[in-house]
Amino acid sequence: MSAREWIGKDFYRELGVSSDASQEEIKKAYRKLARENHPDANPGNTEAETKFKAVSEAYGVLGDTEKRKEYDEARRLFGSGGPGGPGGFGFPGGGQGGPGAGGFDLGDIFGQQQAGGFGGLGDMLGNLFGRRGAAGPTAGRAQRGSDVETDVRIDFTEAVRGATLPLRLSSPATCGTCRGSGAKPGTSPRTCPTCAGAGLISRSQGAFAFSEPCRDCRGRGSIIDEPCPECLGDGVSTRTRTLTVRIPAGVDDNQRIRLAGQGEPGRGGAPAGDLYVRVHVAPHPVFGRSGNDLTITVPVEFTELVLGGTITVPTLDGKVSLKVPAGTANGRVLRARGKGIGKRDGTSGDLLVTLEVVIPSKVDGKAKKALEDYADAVAKHDPRPEITALLRERGA
Ligand SMILES: [Zn+2]
Ligand SMILES: [Zn+2]
Repeated sequence: MSAREWIGKDFYRELGVSSDASQEEIKKAYRKLARENHPDANPGNTEAETKFKAVSEAYGVLGDTEKRKEYDEARRLFGSGGPGGPGGFGFPGGGQGGPGAGGFDLGDIFGQQQAGGFGGLGDMLGNLFGRRGAAGPTAGRAQRGSDVETDVRIDFTEAVRGATLPLRLSSPATCGTCRGSGAKPGTSPRTCPTCAGAGLISRSQGAFAFSEPCRDCRGRGSIIDEPCPECLGDGVSTRTRTLTVRIPAGVDDNQRIRLAGQGEPGRGGAPAGDLYVRVHVAPHPVFGRSGNDLTITVPVEFTELVLGGTITVPTLDGKVSLKVPAGTANGRVLRARGKGIGKRDGTSGDLLVTLEVVIPSKVDGKAKKALEDYADAVAKHDPRPEITALLRERGA
């Protein structure tokens, strides 16, 4: 039995006594009902069996003055929040109180507590209920699933063109073996005798009453004698799933892609969180990137810049010929329009080609002779007229 069910039960009603009944009256009522509904006296009568169990359960709490105090305390805490007074436990969609006039939404209470700084209790119960809720058809507090972030590595060309990748994700999910109960299949958790399933123990200190998680069951409300071999009693195990992720063309390094609703599952029918895929783009050996422009540095001969000509430059999908005008400076950037990275609007960035003169480490023969002749021919020219002029101005 979970804490939620525990709070959702009216043990006094089960035994047909008032909430201020004496221990003696409770005992008497229990004995009578237990005798009437005992399975030995009602073979095959499931209704009687159910009633017998309910009565035993109720007496297990109310018959023990210590537990009865805790139960009353929990009822006071959770059962009399609204102006309607202690009108039962208004769990949406279930329980005995029903969502009537005196009922209230437990989710609201917890929400307020979390917001208002009662975090410990609200959080604790929230987790507790969330876990139970995931296992059963009657959902606990609705809570949106957490967002999840994962990383994916793609190469440069995939980033430029876009890619569809299988993505293997491992995330915590309700254990499939025990369906979240944490107990070995075929067994079930038993109600913690210390807290009677509440997961909480209340303590009084002066005028204040504190609730703290039960130590024996660590706030679970139940004790698992034989843990599930898959999740070792957690009720949560790792689920691996494969998603197909479409990486849009033009994605940049470190960009995040949001996959709505692919995060952790929500609780109590709430929507799932989102999955964020952070993209890491491996650098390309030849191309660089500047926004939607591709960049490349192309080595050229000195003569290609001086005399001009046509050079062939690689692009991501082939080659492009570029005209180099005569007298082009070293380091100049030429632009091949539309040969860059595709944009969302259907247009593309450019390919920016940086021209870089290569100096041969050694020349000989005909080339050396030609260069010596060239050097002679330009000997009277000062290649650094600006520097010479500036230095002369300063009297150097
Ligand atoms: Zn399990
Ligand atoms: Zn306990």
